[in-house]
Amino acid sequence: MTTVTARSVVVGVVGRPISHSLSPIIHNAWIAAAGIEAVYVAVSPPEDGFAAFIAGLRGGGVLRGLNVTLPFKPQALALADDTTPRAKAAEAANLLVFQPDGAIWADNTDGLGLLSAFASQAPGFDPAAGPVAVLGAGGGARAAAAAFLAAGAPEVRLINRTLSKAWVVATLLGPKASAFKLDDAAAGFAGVNAIVNASSAGLLGEGSDLPFDAAPSTAVVMDMTYKPLLTPLLRDAQAAGLRTVDGLEMLIGQARPSFEAFFGRSPPPEVDVRSLALAVLGADA
Ligand code: NDP
Repeated sequence: MTTVTARSVVVGVVGRPISHSLSPIIHNAWIAAAGIEAVYVAVSPPEDGFAAFIAGLRGGGVLRGLNVTLPFKPQALALADDTTPRAKAAEAANLLVFQPDGAIWADNTDGLGLLSAFASQAPGFDPAAGPVAVLGAGGGARAAAAAFLAAGAPEVRLINRTLSKAWVVATLLGPKASAFKLDDAAAGFAGVNAIVNASSAGLLGEGSDLPFDAAPSTAVVMDMTYKPLLTPLLRDAQAAGLRTVDGLEMLIGQARPSFEAFFGRSPPPEVDVRSLALAVLGADA
């Protein structure tokens, strides 16, 4: 175990609510195994106090960096001085680094996490092999759509409860993106290579009611939600014979590049952070 001292580097995650976050479990396990003199904390400023909170962190004397989760991701991007193209494409930042000169650098590693989850749980999956359907039109959906397009997907279909929001995102993403209403999910699923759920609610009841039979049998289905690990949506997809990828693997996948940004080195690969997170989730491995 790493001892926290007066010299310890402090990093963390900011969100509201935050007590559910698994990021401290993951990062502190990596910090301990790497023998870095650091600690990863969880913080939750008032929603209307986020800008003031971030302003107080400029210069890095308090915190070296922060992961950002709901509801602060769009605001985090807006407050940053330097932003990566993928954070701009997602219109949301999940990672801030406070530079010694006072500048704030923002990135979005959700797309990297998503693709690494597909790589680890759906071996052989090729993101460039066909169209992708993304459920939702928020920051998670934008990050997923942008990551798939950057990885060579020929087409991304945003399927959302509110069609107009899906069109706004599709228009920003360019000619390879289109929009569908949730009621027309069957049309959106036709011929897809992958289906990603980036919708935050409404699909957690008894069943997902999604028309998985409209998708090819080769399609891989991913749910960003990981509570429960096997969501009703993933259960329905498996019942339809489709391969699935879970949201916990994405969470771990987005944490890796965050750790690299904080500490300038990769997390120790020997630490089984998935088992640690599952123990906290109370889910079966
Ligand atoms: P946003 O709040 O930005 O977007 C939410 C989306 O969900 C909107 O498109 C909204 O549709 C849709 N939605 C909300 N309620 C319903 C409903 N009842 N029925 C249908 N659609 C609904 O959230 P984010 O994009 O930031 O995050 C989405 C989810 O992904 C969250 O659960 C988040 O925790 C998870 N996530 C997981 C990550 C991981 O590492 N595993 C990383 C990032 C996100 P509308 O436009 O109609 O309002």
